[in-house]
Amino acid sequence: MATILLTGGAGYIGSHTCVALAQAGHRPVILDDFSNAAEDVPDRLAHLLGSTPEVWRGSVLDAELLARLFATHDIAVVMHFAALKAVGVSMQRPLDYARTNLGGLMTLLEAMRTASVHRLVYSSSAMVYGLPETIPIPEDAPTGFANPYGYTKLAGEQLLEQLAASDPRWAFGILRYFNPVGAHASGLIGEDPADIPNNLMPYIARVATGELPHLQVFGDDYPTPDGTGIRDYIHVEDLAEGHVLSLQSLMRTGQGHLLNLGTGQGRSVLEVLAAYGRACGRTLPHVIAPRRPGDVPILCADPTRAAELLGFRARRSLDDMCASSWRWITRRQGD
Ligand code: UDP
Repeated sequence: MATILLTGGAGYIGSHTCVALAQAGHRPVILDDFSNAAEDVPDRLAHLLGSTPEVWRGSVLDAELLARLFATHDIAVVMHFAALKAVGVSMQRPLDYARTNLGGLMTLLEAMRTASVHRLVYSSSAMVYGLPETIPIPEDAPTGFANPYGYTKLAGEQLLEQLAASDPRWAFGILRYFNPVGAHASGLIGEDPADIPNNLMPYIARVATGELPHLQVFGDDYPTPDGTGIRDYIHVEDLAEGHVLSLQSLMRTGQGHLLNLGTGQGRSVLEVLAAYGRACGRTLPHVIAPRRPGDVPILCADPTRAAELLGFRARRSLDDMCASSWRWITRRQGD
C-alpha cells in the first residue's frame, strides 16, 4: 500500500481522486488549507471510505509544514491539486495566481527534492493550448495562454520539463484536464464553491435550485453551431480514475507522461443547460450576455494518447454528469 500525498485533497477533484485512490488500495494523505473546500469533506470521505483519511491543514506555500510532512511520512508519489482556478478572477489578480500556483509548485518541489520524493502528478489544464488551431487538440499542439490562470499552468508544466531534463530521477504525470463536472455517484461529495460560482455547471446547479434566477450565457456569436462556447466536459469520477492510472504508470515505469484527460466530445453551453434541465426535470431559464474576457470559442480533447498509454477512456455521459451533480446538490440541501 503506497502513501500518496494529495495537496488540495479536500477540494473538488482532489476529494474524488482521494476516493478512487483508496479504492485502488493506496493510502491518501491530504494537505489542504480549506480556502475552497468545505469543512465537512473529511467526514464525508470517512463515510465513503470507512475510515477518516489523514488530513493536514495548511498551505503548499508553507515550506516548514511540508518539511514536517515529508519527514514523518514515506510518500511514494505526490498529486498536486492545490491551486487557484478561476479564469475570470485571474485576469484581475495575476500576481495572486502566480504566487499560489507557481510559488506553491516551487515550494512543493523543493520539499520533495529534500525528501528525495521524485514523482508527481500535476493538475494542468486545456487552457495551456491558448487559442487552439486544431480541434480536437492533440498533446503536441502549440501551447500558449489567453489569461493569467493559463499562464501559471503552462509555466508550471515548463518548470517540470526542465526539472525532468536536469535529473532522470524526476518523473511527472502532467494531466491536462478539459472541463471536469458532475459529482460522486453517492451524492456525498461534489463541487461546492464558497461564492457565486464562476464555472458553468455549478452556476446552472444554482439556477436549478432557484438560488440564482437564470444562467447568463457568455456570448452567442462564437463560430460554433449554436453560437455558444464549446467545451469537452468530463465526469469528475472519470477524471479521478485517470489520475489513478497516471499514478500506476509512474510507479510501474518511472517514466513521465503528458496527457489530455477529456472525452473527445465537445458540448455547447446551451447543450449543457438542456441536459441539466433533463436531470432536474424542468427547463432552466437563460439570458444571453456579452462574451467573457479570456474565453476561447472551442476546446475539445484528442483523447488518443491517454487511451494508448494508460488505457484511459472517459465512460460517463453528459446526462450522467448532470444527474450526479443534481443528486449531490439536492442531497446536500437535505443534510
Ligand atoms: N459560461 C457561461 N456562463 C457562465 C459560466 C460559463 O456561459 O455563467 C460558459 C463559458 O463562457 C464557457 C463555458 O461556459 O464557454 C465553460 O465555462 P467554465 O467557466 O465552466 O470553464 P472554462 O472552460 O472557462 O474553464
